[in-house]
Amino acid sequence: MSECVFCAVLQGLKGAEVYRSPSGRAYRKVRDLPASVAILGHDQFYRGYTVVIARTHATELYDLADGELAQYLADMVGVARALDRAFRPRKMNYECLGNTVAHLHWHLFPRHTDDPNPKRPTWQHAHEPPAVSDAEAAATIAAICRHLA
Ligand SMILES: [Zn+2]
Repeated sequence: MSECVFCAVLQGLKGAEVYRSPSGRAYRKVRDLPASVAILGHDQFYRGYTVVIARTHATELYDLADGELAQYLADMVGVARALDRAFRPRKMNYECLGNTVAHLHWHLFPRHTDDPNPKRPTWQHAHEPPAVSDAEAAATIAAICRHLA
């Protein structure tokens, strides 16, 4: 289990707002939730992009016990609702893939009115993730948290 990137992130975010991985990447906590931890996505090209990581190391949604699954989905929808209220996107995209990191996590991508390729998945629009300062990340997290129950 120790080789799982997200297990390491969850461990690193216990009692911390930011975890820096051995490679130097910063993982910024948005909020601790009952069945998950929400973190700010690295690529803020899609403003507000958030990842909701299950507390339990599991690969598939159906691997979670029913009660935990219901809570995990409620956590995810609550974050999506907060993103909607914070940023008023045109559409929300929900992606649960796990092909690279096989630990349950939802990618929540707000799709904004200035989206350059609004009808296609985010990964089909080549772009460089914008540089985000600590202050900008903190402002984005604060905007999301204002609307999180
Ligand atoms: Zn894991």
